[in-house]
Amino acid sequence: MSDNEIRVRIAPSPSGYLHVGTARTAIFNWLYARQNGGKFIVRIEDTDQARSQAELVDPILDALKWLGLDWDEGPFFQSERLERYTPYVEKLIENGHAYRCFKTPEELEQKRQELAESKDQHLDKDWLKSSPEEEQRLLASNTPYAVRLAVPDGETAYDDVILGHLVRQNAEIEDFVICRSDGRAVYNLAVVADDHEMGITHVIRGNDHITNTFKQILLYRGLGIEPPKFAHVPLILRPDKKKVSKRLGDKDVAEYGNEGILPEGLFNFLCLLGWSPKDDREYLPREELVRVFRLENVNKANPIFNEEKLLALNREYIKNTADYRLAELVAPLLVNAGYTTKYWLETRWEYLRQIIGLLKERCSRLTEFVEMSEYFFTDEFAYEETAAHKNFNSEAAERLTELAAQFEALDRFAKEELEHVLTAYAEELDIGKGKLIHPTRLAVSGVSKGPGLYDLLVTLGKETVVKRMRKAVTFIEAYKE
Ligand code: GLU
Repeated sequence: MSDNEIRVRIAPSPSGYLHVGTARTAIFNWLYARQNGGKFIVRIEDTDQARSQAELVDPILDALKWLGLDWDEGPFFQSERLERYTPYVEKLIENGHAYRCFKTPEELEQKRQELAESKDQHLDKDWLKSSPEEEQRLLASNTPYAVRLAVPDGETAYDDVILGHLVRQNAEIEDFVICRSDGRAVYNLAVVADDHEMGITHVIRGNDHITNTFKQILLYRGLGIEPPKFAHVPLILRPDKKKVSKRLGDKDVAEYGNEGILPEGLFNFLCLLGWSPKDDREYLPREELVRVFRLENVNKANPIFNEEKLLALNREYIKNTADYRLAELVAPLLVNAGYTTKYWLETRWEYLRQIIGLLKERCSRLTEFVEMSEYFFTDEFAYEETAAHKNFNSEAAERLTELAAQFEALDRFAKEELEHVLTAYAEELDIGKGKLIHPTRLAVSGVSKGPGLYDLLVTLGKETVVKRMRKAVTFIEAYKE
């Protein structure tokens, strides 16, 4: 670690999957590290045995990777570092900033009830302490104890990179436990010890941690360690103004992937939740964000998660992503949908790439490629009912028969030739081109909307096109009777 290196971290607790709030915090940290040539560290905060689930660690790390948030150090696990925290607790006891509290859970509960019933809500902190003689006696008889921080009188203040100067009266902070009676250090102490040992220079996290921050600053002061800088980012709200949470059905980051959102799109979108560039741009690819993101310009107000904006951005990213890369992402979705197999696709990669090229302007999610592309993989599709009603009649049957014959006779089944044939035939019949285009589209795809007809025909290929046009004629004829 060099002296002035910027070092930041994301410290997820594996009590749930990676949700959008933590993902956005991770993005801000990552951007800050990357734009300053600093280090981005991953630390898993799994000291809470009751709530931590080991099986959630890999999905969290996978979601970070999926978003492209590569880390320089870690993942570190707090559960593997427990013995490192003890010296911090001992030091605080030695220098008088912490004390052993021998009150039993029952005594504490009773006191809490008394307080709740009385007008005086403040706990007389001295009640928690023991006299030196009493302490010696209780220690000698192996009475269990917790260690509490002796919160001093006065106030605690610090300058938040985002929120400015913040002050809290110490009277509002209880003498909190830093080490439980089983010898395990609690969360706030573990965070301070780790942030110190990992050389963290900036703690960038959700503003729901501000209460912890004051406690952590008291710990730093008690330990005689200079605290890092703190930057508290606003919480993401749902459109109904409630905080996003899993409980309310909000999604894991991985779910966005399953729903066809590109990691680049989600990355850009999340970054705009609580921050925006000075101009009005919204489409900001990662490299541009590394350049223009400013931690100090993160808003104080809580942003609202607007899924429509996510889809609009995702559409832009789909449009600007190379066809071959989209093909790689869409291929497994097509296989899952049962349209094709991995084996079949292996030799028809170019066909898939062409399909992607035809549809990409119309898709807001990768999953829409699947919804729109069934007819590229099967001849067995139904015709859209209203469109069939409108476009399939005996005139259309005649025209499709003729057009199919002319298409079949073409040496070069290419866009210009197809357009030429169709235009000449429309002129000969003295009808608008639409009268040929709509039935043809319906015959070859079963739907009334889609990519430009000539591109569509070229991609499907002569044999398929002619076969499907003739099949439509048979269908119309059967329908007539
Ligand atoms: N483990 C905390 C969380 O998941 C983060 C704490 C921190 O960043 O200091 O919310």
